[in-house]
Amino acid sequence: MNIILLGAPGAGKGVQGKAIAEHFNIPIVSSGDILREFAKKQSTDSKLNGEMQGGQLISDKFVMELVFNELKSNKYTNGYILDGVPRTLVQAKAIEKHNINIAAVIYINVPEDIVKERVLHRKVCKSCGKIYNEEGKTICAQCGGELFKRNDDNEEAIKERLNVYHKKTEALIEYYKAKNLLKEINGNQQISDVSKEIFGVLESL
Ligand SMILES: [Zn+2]
Repeated sequence: MNIILLGAPGAGKGVQGKAIAEHFNIPIVSSGDILREFAKKQSTDSKLNGEMQGGQLISDKFVMELVFNELKSNKYTNGYILDGVPRTLVQAKAIEKHNINIAAVIYINVPEDIVKERVLHRKVCKSCGKIYNEEGKTICAQCGGELFKRNDDNEEAIKERLNVYHKKTEALIEYYKAKNLLKEINGNQQISDVSKEIFGVLESL
């Protein structure tokens, strides 16, 4: 089962992706992680790093090359969850051209003022990757690891990411709606309730 996760930055794609991964035992393919991993290997002042911290999108072709390369791994034979990709129509069409069979597109819908608030307060565990939205928290409750703020979770970058999202990603909602693949989920409720709604949709496929 191959799934696409859609939603504004801060809509909860990371958290829900992990929940789906555990529930259905399929791995997540996060374009953000793939790009950050790639950027780590480059010099810190590289163009890619600059673009990521500025919240801009890396070129479609480049992202898809990295993602398709990642998907060659054996661990994805039972399916996967695409998080952060596709972000544009060009990327969506590349996926289709690559003959990837998508079972569902989970669209987590959250009002914009709420996603902004969430992203500004977001912290990630250095060790296990768990995401926190509580203010003042510095240590991971799950593993004791240190929490840090992602470089691209600053006010300017968020504004830019939301702009990019409106300009390019929203077109995907229409695209997948037309293909009858879009499953809209109410993301403005308790995390566990969002998960329940998603599991219900995926189990009924
Ligand atoms: Zn942790």
